[in-house]
Amino acid sequence: MTAMVLDGAALAAEVRATVHGRATQLASHGVVPTLAVVLVGDDPASAVYVKAKTKAAQDAGVTPRDHRLPHATTERELLTLVDSLNRDPHVDGILIQMPLPAHINADLVLGAIDPTKDVDGLHPISLGLLAQGRPRFVPCTPRGVMHLLDHAGVALEGARAVVLGRSVLVGKPMALLLSNANATVVLCHSRTRDLPDEVRRADIVVAAVGRPGMVRGDWIRDGAVVIDVGINRGTDGKLCGDVAYAEAAQHARAITPVPKGVGPMTIACLLENTVDAAQRRRGAGA
Ligand code: NDP
Repeated sequence: MTAMVLDGAALAAEVRATVHGRATQLASHGVVPTLAVVLVGDDPASAVYVKAKTKAAQDAGVTPRDHRLPHATTERELLTLVDSLNRDPHVDGILIQMPLPAHINADLVLGAIDPTKDVDGLHPISLGLLAQGRPRFVPCTPRGVMHLLDHAGVALEGARAVVLGRSVLVGKPMALLLSNANATVVLCHSRTRDLPDEVRRADIVVAAVGRPGMVRGDWIRDGAVVIDVGINRGTDGKLCGDVAYAEAAQHARAITPVPKGVGPMTIACLLENTVDAAQRRRGAGA
C-alpha cells in the first residue's frame, strides 16, 4: 500500500490565505485583528517559535504585538501585563509562550487570560466548553489535526481513533474533538498496558508523545490514517516524529510527515483563532 502523504505545509498555506481574506474584510470594517505574544525569558526554542508566529501573523494580516520580558519577571508583573492586555480594546488574542520560567505558575497565568481572548485555547473555560461539546477556542495543534483529517476526507463517525499522549496541550483536547465528531476514542499514555495492541485496532492514530519513532510500522493496521504530532530530534540530529515514518507508510492509507505535517498547521490555527476572536469580540461581519 502506498500511503497518501498529508501535506500540512500546503494546507497551512490555504488556511493562512483564508485568514488573510477574513482579516482584510475585517480591516474594511475598521477592525485590525491583533495578537499579543508574550515571551518571558531567553529560551532559544521559544524565541524561534515566537519569531515564526509573529512573521506568520504579519503575512496573514494579523498585527502582532511583541512583549518580551526578562527571565527575572515576577509572577505578579506577568499577571499585571495580562490584566492590561485583557483590558486593551485593541488586543483580540493573547498568547503566552510556554514554557514559563519555573518560578511562575503557568496555570495561574493561563487562567488569568480573558477567555474571549484565549486564542491558545488553554484557559479552563475554553477546555470546559470543548468538553461540553460547544467549543469556542480549540487548542491550535488539535484544531490543525482536525483540518488535516477533514481535508483528507477521513470519515470520523464511528471510526476507532487512538490518541497517544494525554497532555492538556494536545492529547486531551484531541480526544475530545474526535469524540465530539463521533469517533470512538481510546486515549493512551505512559501507563497504558499494551500500547501496540491498542494502536493495531485503530482506524485513526494520533501520536503526541515526544518519543522519536516510538510507533512502529507493525503497530499500524492496514489502511489506517496516521497523524504524527511529535517533533523530536532523532539520533542523527534531524527532526523526526513519534512514528517510524517509512515503516508506518507501508501500512497506512494516509500519513503526515515530520516536518511539514502537523507543525505548520499549529501556527495557521493560531491565526485562525485570532481572527475568530476579533470577529466575535467586535461583532464584525466576516
Ligand atoms: P507532554 O510531554 O506534555 O505529554 C506526553 C504524553 O505522552 C503524556 O501524556 C505521556 O504520558 C505520554 N507518554 C510518554 N511516554 C510514553 C510512552 N512510552 N508510551 C505511551 N505514552 C507515553 O508532550 P506534548 O503533548 O506537549 O507533546 C507531545 C509531542 O508533540 C512532542 O514531541 C512535542 O514536541 C510535539 N508537539 C508538536 C506540536 C506541533 O505543532 N506539531 C505542538 C505541541 C507539541 P503520561 O501522561 O502518563 O506521562
